[in-house]
Amino acid sequence: MNKRVAIIGAGPSGMAQLRAFQSAGEKGADIPDIVCFEKQKDWGGMWNYTWRTGTDENGQPVHGSMYRYLWSNGPKECLEFADYTFEEHFGKPIASYPPREVLWDYIRGRVEKAGVRPYIRFNTTVRQVSFDAATKKFTVTAQDFSAGTTVSEDFDYVVNACGHFSTPNAPTFPGFESFGGRILHAHDFRDALEFKDKDVLLVGSSYSAEDIGSQCYKYGAKSITSCYRTAPMGYHWPDNWEEKPLLQRVRGNIAYFADDTHKRIDAIILCTGYQHHFPFLPDDLRLKTGNRLWPLNLYKGIFWEDNPGLIYLGMQDLWYSFNMFDAQAWYARDVILGRITLPPKTEMIVHSLAWRAKEEKLVTNQEMFEFQGSYIQELLDATDYPSFDIEGVNRTFLEWKHDKHHDIMGYRNKSYRSLMTGTQSPPHHTPWLSALDDSMEAYLGEAAPALKAAS
Ligand code: FAD
Ligand code: NAP
Repeated sequence: MNKRVAIIGAGPSGMAQLRAFQSAGEKGADIPDIVCFEKQKDWGGMWNYTWRTGTDENGQPVHGSMYRYLWSNGPKECLEFADYTFEEHFGKPIASYPPREVLWDYIRGRVEKAGVRPYIRFNTTVRQVSFDAATKKFTVTAQDFSAGTTVSEDFDYVVNACGHFSTPNAPTFPGFESFGGRILHAHDFRDALEFKDKDVLLVGSSYSAEDIGSQCYKYGAKSITSCYRTAPMGYHWPDNWEEKPLLQRVRGNIAYFADDTHKRIDAIILCTGYQHHFPFLPDDLRLKTGNRLWPLNLYKGIFWEDNPGLIYLGMQDLWYSFNMFDAQAWYARDVILGRITLPPKTEMIVHSLAWRAKEEKLVTNQEMFEFQGSYIQELLDATDYPSFDIEGVNRTFLEWKHDKHHDIMGYRNKSYRSLMTGTQSPPHHTPWLSALDDSMEAYLGEAAPALKAAS
């Protein structure tokens, strides 16, 4: 009987796994039976925007953490698929920092071309995964909200591609219970216009704090205060943005900080990151980690060492993203197809610990993305995923970092050269700060169909 593979999630990682199998099939390989379970009604994972917060229409926790007007926070040249370029998808070179809808369109384009949508059961949440040591099968139990049924099926492999930026890490601070304004986590932030003319406090000093603060600035917040636990972001902020050491407590609408200063604020947004949260997995199969570049217990950053039939995609902290998911998915595919043999567990652990030891020595941003690049290179060397210029991507990351330090509100006006096609991307037609319409039509410089017809 054909091997059976379950994929949990049809976000960029799950879609990479589907495309990896389809690519092998296209070249003549016998591919296993595949079922991809996706709790949302469409694919694209985080890039599939939802206005909802809290629970979805099925009473499930809302997956999406993305918000209106979100643009890529890194150059698209760093995440481009090696087997499907932006130029192929859009039919022309486009600028380097696309808004969410443009990236969603790009991700979908590749898998629509590959024809893998029929593998996916949408509106279906995986509730439980168990493993039977006697049969060596995983049982996946999933609730199909369209059919109103819950079904259990057996699989030889389970690919967990459910993402790890959905379940908030939400600390509390003294006085929150009686704070006079709104408190929310970044996961529930949807529209910066809600904070127009408001004094906003952001807790955290990573990407969410940087980008949500920038959105609030762009769409007219009165002032932004961000506060850090470990280190400030350190960019040259606009005049109405202050960085402070960590919040200590609030009283009424006054926030008190570790440097003994205080400030009146209207709203607090906790940009304090996310938890790796897999409620459908039993303790002995569940990855437990913070958001870091080398989580332990995953051989090659992918295979659960205690039971390598369980595969995790995209669980690392992300510098690289889409093309890293591809490198992992192609590697996982080749293990499932028997093209790559995994070593015994003792060797896997030695390998993982060696990468972890390197990870622990990383200090600078450059060292971090180069580390992730060399990890990806190790995966690429073992499969037929089209090889690409990792050093070139690293150089682009470095330029991006310099551009941000030069002008945090202007870096998205820069453009870079594709490492896949060699084409220089054009500058965007409108500076990011004044580009208030984030629709695909506006970004690509095309009139919306209705307007075209009217003109
Ligand atoms: P996800 O995109 O999270 O997809 C996981 C999928 O699994 C979802 O479709 C979900 O519905 C499904 N799922 C979850 N649980 C279940 C279940 N129990 N049963 C069935 N299905 C399930 N990356 C970048 O490269 N550039 C950016 O600019 C960028 N911006 C970001 C902005 C925000 C606010 C956030 C939160 C993340 C951002 N990221 C960005 C990172 C982003 O997470 C990745 O780009 C990418 O979406 C990860 O893909 P994934 O498939 O691993 O996870
Ligand atoms: P993150 O990178 O994991 O950062 C979490 C932040 O929260 C860190 O600054 C951390 O501080 C802080 N923190 C955690 N617990 C805290 C506590 N108890 N008290 C105070 N501070 C605490 O998470 P993220 O910023 O949400 O980013 C997640 C992902 O979303 C990233 O991949 C990012 O690229 C993506 N993203 C992209 C965009 C975009 O523009 N396209 C926008 C938002 C997010 P320490 O440094 O002290 O640990």
